[in-house]
Amino acid sequence: MMKAIIVNKPFEVEIKEVPKPEINDGNDIIIKVLAGGICGSDVGIYNGTNSLATYPRIIGHEFGGIIEAVGDRVTNVKVGDLVAVDNVNSCGRCYACLTGHHNVCSTVEVTGVHRDGGFAEYVKTTEENAYKVNKDHINPFHVALVEPYSIGVEANERGRITKGDKVLVMGSGPIGIAVMQVAKSRGAEVMMTDLVNTRLERAMDMGADKVVNVLEESLTDVVSEFTNGEGLPVIVDSVCTPRSLEEALELVSPAGRIVSLGTGNKPSAIPQVAFTKKGVDVVGSRLNNYRFPHVIELLESGAITPEKMHTHTFEFTDVKEALEEVMNNKDAVCKVVLTF
Ligand code: MN
Repeated sequence: MMKAIIVNKPFEVEIKEVPKPEINDGNDIIIKVLAGGICGSDVGIYNGTNSLATYPRIIGHEFGGIIEAVGDRVTNVKVGDLVAVDNVNSCGRCYACLTGHHNVCSTVEVTGVHRDGGFAEYVKTTEENAYKVNKDHINPFHVALVEPYSIGVEANERGRITKGDKVLVMGSGPIGIAVMQVAKSRGAEVMMTDLVNTRLERAMDMGADKVVNVLEESLTDVVSEFTNGEGLPVIVDSVCTPRSLEEALELVSPAGRIVSLGTGNKPSAIPQVAFTKKGVDVVGSRLNNYRFPHVIELLESGAITPEKMHTHTFEFTDVKEALEEVMNNKDAVCKVVLTF
């Protein structure tokens, strides 16, 4: 048996004894979990606002640890390796999978959302989902931050962010920061927004070129100055309110790109002419499309700094306090890591 964090129903989380997973297939891997990052979507499962979640659920989709056992067909990793686990599980046969977009597989299953996740002492995954991280280069607990950075890489790919692009990242939470650091690694110039000054200060400290508190300054004016009146070639929206997408269409340059990370159901009011006239690409960016190797390269080169994203640590048995901290201390919290 082992301990796991289970959300039985909204606002009811417990540490429960459950069976320890076992190898059933040649591709299987058992991981002794070291660390798991708490995401906004975990909070959504906890407080009942994540429409994709089903209960009861072992949560956790940002995690990794040390391989404890491997099936007889596993060749790329071995017992003792430190790995980060990709949470995307796809069918391999649908249109999206066959055209190289397995992250939007028609039957995609996300570990920790649609199936039991990584907030447990042990997790079973497969060789394909486990990515080795060099123990000499990173704090082992930061395997938990590979997944949020993979969202950053995906958004950069979807927005075709490249050297010299002026980019606006709306929102300075962990995902906004991840998008920014990846964009900086590609030579883009990045401006970020938020409502909270401590989050903007962290964004600057982690590499943003310019930050705007949209409660204090006119974003339109700052963007105009930042782009010499041209508008922004790329906008990545990690705020994801109905209004933020409308605003992105107003601020984007002709021939620009808008990347939305939103999962909300409320419609934005967008006149068709707004994107036709400017010839704008508006794209969605979901999960990650085999981006773990790239994140691990960025980690090992020092281009991204998970140690600055990681602001709080809790023992996994204190998960309730950790979730409360994420919900109630938005000024100070960037990424909360649970240790196992
Ligand atoms: Mn996440």
